[in-house]
Amino acid sequence: MKIALFPGDGIGPEIMEQARRVLDVLALPGLVLFEGDVGGVGYKRQGHPLPQDTLEMAKAADAILFGAVGDPECDSLERDLRPEQAILGLRSALGLFANLRPATMFPGLEDLSALRPEVARAIDLLIVRELNGDVYFGDKGTRVLDDGRRQGFDIMSYAEDEVRRIAHVGFRAAQGRAKSGGKGRMCSVDKANVLETSQLWRDVVIDTAVEYPDVELSHMYVDNAAMQLVRDPGQFDVILTGNLFGDILSDQASMCVGSIGLLASAAMGETQGEFGTLGLFEPIHGSAPDIAGQGKANPLAMILSLAMLLRHSLGREDDAARVEKAVAKTLEDGIFGGDLGGSAGTAEIGDAVLQRM
Ligand code: ATP
Ligand code: MG
Repeated sequence: MKIALFPGDGIGPEIMEQARRVLDVLALPGLVLFEGDVGGVGYKRQGHPLPQDTLEMAKAADAILFGAVGDPECDSLERDLRPEQAILGLRSALGLFANLRPATMFPGLEDLSALRPEVARAIDLLIVRELNGDVYFGDKGTRVLDDGRRQGFDIMSYAEDEVRRIAHVGFRAAQGRAKSGGKGRMCSVDKANVLETSQLWRDVVIDTAVEYPDVELSHMYVDNAAMQLVRDPGQFDVILTGNLFGDILSDQASMCVGSIGLLASAAMGETQGEFGTLGLFEPIHGSAPDIAGQGKANPLAMILSLAMLLRHSLGREDDAARVEKAVAKTLEDGIFGGDLGGSAGTAEIGDAVLQRM
């Protein structure tokens, strides 16, 4: 079992350190850890945000735990050398097309949500966002029209197979969640009343649903979904959506839970290997340069990303649940970092999780 650790920039190394301590306590049999440079650190040490040896390490691993990239000192570099290219490069090199972003309410945090406590309490959803297609990857540019006006354009497109493979991920996620008390529902979010891509999306999802009669499928236009997510998030189980809509809806979901320092994510590819799928796991937040090196960052999103890694790439559900329970207990006991209005530091929060494991 090989895990590649890529701490990256800013608070990345500090929060990765806490995840590594959790790994030590778990003492997984036969575990081999690699550590590689990514982001601004990659550029400064090796001249590239995604150095060749880091990429090789990623390809050889069963799973990747990724901290964060982003370094203000690299702002003036050309686009290909910027830290952010590391994550984009890894996603495309490894074919990671499915982004799983769970948003669950932790007991004791209801009052810190952007929503009313009684509404927030019901949040237990998973956003399944397509990661390799949509308007981000179509032809784009700026042209000058005959009358001299400039016109920007980004082509939005989805091919059938791209929709089908992410739909399968969504349906299977709904089935998996149903086994542990989930609602067995999937809501596919699109804008099929206006967009051709969305009409195709909807057709393919309906087609794929035939293979999953146990999952209750519904469809929602994205504008309505944004509204419903704050009105009554408890109605959702799995939300399946494209790259652009998923980007927006998952940021919205994070504030409903309470803090960006709490949410983890997985980027998954095609099924492979004995345990499941190669994946890249990372907090949804960035490198937080404003608090880097001060021991203030909340490591819980990073630790929860490790839990997702254990579950989705290594098939170690019991270990994942053990880590998640310890995190939930830490929050229930009121051990909060600055992002939640508390005063616990990075290592102190790590200590609290270790004790509760
Ligand atoms: P990116 O573009 O990489 O997503 P960003 O510009 O969205 O980065 P973040 O790095 O996510 O920004 O930081 C946004 C704010 O949230 C900052 O004020 C940062 O200090 C805070 N923040 C982010 N992560 C954490 C954390 N784990 N603990 C505490 N505060 C955090
Ligand atoms: Mg961000």
